[in-house]
Amino acid sequence: MWREQQRAEQKQIGFVPTMGALHQGHLSLVEQACKENDLVVVSIFVNPKQFNQNADLQAYPRTLSADLALLSHLSNLVIFAPDESEMYPADLPFTPMPLGPIGQLLEGAHRPGHFEGVVHVVHHLFALVQPHKAYFGQKDFQQLAIIRLLNAHYGFGIDIIGCQTVRHKDGLAMSSRNLRLTAEQRQNALSISRALYFVQHNIGKNPLEKVKQEAISIIEQAGLEIEYLEIVDPITLEKCAEWQQAQVCCVAAFCGEVRLIDNMLCESVL
Ligand code: AMP
Repeated sequence: MWREQQRAEQKQIGFVPTMGALHQGHLSLVEQACKENDLVVVSIFVNPKQFNQNADLQAYPRTLSADLALLSHLSNLVIFAPDESEMYPADLPFTPMPLGPIGQLLEGAHRPGHFEGVVHVVHHLFALVQPHKAYFGQKDFQQLAIIRLLNAHYGFGIDIIGCQTVRHKDGLAMSSRNLRLTAEQRQNALSISRALYFVQHNIGKNPLEKVKQEAISIIEQAGLEIEYLEIVDPITLEKCAEWQQAQVCCVAAFCGEVRLIDNMLCESVL
């Protein structure tokens, strides 16, 4: 009904799906969407289907009134904050898509069912909102690749816009999960971005495997438990054996109970 009215008025619709606990990283997506569209839909929904551990789902921060306050200066915004029964009505059909090789790597290997859950919710959201453009952060690099596959697979024809990762001044990538870190853990978590910058600055200077091991020890020495640190091809996400023109270093590590991910595009200057 709402969507039909917008279509009749030929409004250009932008869409930013989120799980809330909004920060400047989310805001950068919303602000870009506001610049490029007549109307922007921001969804706020902590999607149970994409959590492979119930404790993580329970602990995920929920800050709806602060989220609304953060967005309050923006106009032409529609906030969609459904509950689970609205998001997944029993009569709404969904046929899962094959995730392909990209879905099996990195996050796919360590969080069984995660991308299936992401695809399910984004499929429903795209079908409901029918945006012209949808905005996703490169912070979730592999997710962005999966969303592009989803868009092609279901034939949505949406313009998928990848947006740069927003970092705190000290380098830590902004994340809703940072809210769960103690001051000491937050300090230790800085080792992740330090390791990524280390890789970025050392492309081609030493063999890839040596640089990778040094990056791993930067994080481990800060007391984090690494789930993976891989240097991968930006398109296939397959591990690189040697330096190439462009690669992405992707990390997942536990800082106490909190699982953080980050990545950085590392391009050769040669
Ligand atoms: P989330 O609420 O974590 O599901 O994130 C919603 C969207 O915001 C996703 O497209 C994320 O990739 C993006 N996002 C999260 N953190 C950042 C960040 N630090 N910089 C840019 N985009 C981000």
